[in-house]
Amino acid sequence: MSCRLCRLCEKATRAVPGEGNPQAEVLFIGEAPGKNEDLSGKPFVGAAGKFLDEMLASINMEREDVFITNIVKHRPPGNRDPKEDEIETCFPYLDQQIQAIRPLLIITLGRHAMNRFLPGFQISKVHGQAKRVQSIFSSKQVIYPLYHPASALYNGSLRPVILQDMKKIPRLLQKLKKEQEG
Ligand code: URA
Repeated sequence: MSCRLCRLCEKATRAVPGEGNPQAEVLFIGEAPGKNEDLSGKPFVGAAGKFLDEMLASINMEREDVFITNIVKHRPPGNRDPKEDEIETCFPYLDQQIQAIRPLLIITLGRHAMNRFLPGFQISKVHGQAKRVQSIFSSKQVIYPLYHPASALYNGSLRPVILQDMKKIPRLLQKLKKEQEG
C-alpha cells in the first residue's frame, strides 16, 4: 500500500493489491486499476467487473472462490496502458501473490497480463488455449489467456467468445487437479 517504486503512485489515490480467496485454485490477472478501483481500493468494481462477475457466474463461480488482481497495482493516469518498466517494477508483488496462493490455473485478462507470461503471443490467436510455462517453483504453471472483459463492452462480438472460453475452465481445472494428485 505504501509502494513508491514507480511513477504510478504519484497520481493514484491508493494501491489496489487485489482480493479474494487466498487458497483459490484460480488466479485472475487483469491490466491495471481504473478510476473506480483507484477510489475503492478493490479490483474490478466498474463495468468490466460486472461482466467479470457474469463470466464467473457462467461457470458457477463467484468472487469468493477465486483471487483477482492486476499486473500493476496502481492506476495509470487517464487509464493509459501500463508501461513495460511499470509492469516489471510491479512484478515482484504479483510473483509473491502467486507464490502465496499457488493457484492451479492463472487466467490472464487482456494482452498486457498475457504478455508478461506469454511474450510474443497474440491474444486473438491464443485466447482460450491453456499454455504451460516454467514457473518460479521449478514446476510448470498453466496460463489460460482470455480477452479482457472490458473489450466485450466496446466490441459486443467478443462477449460470446469470452463466455465460450470460460466454458472450458471447469474441465481444465479437473484435469489439472488429477495431474496434481498424480
Ligand atoms: N480493468 C482491469 O484490468 N483491472 C481492474 O481492476 C479494473 C478494470
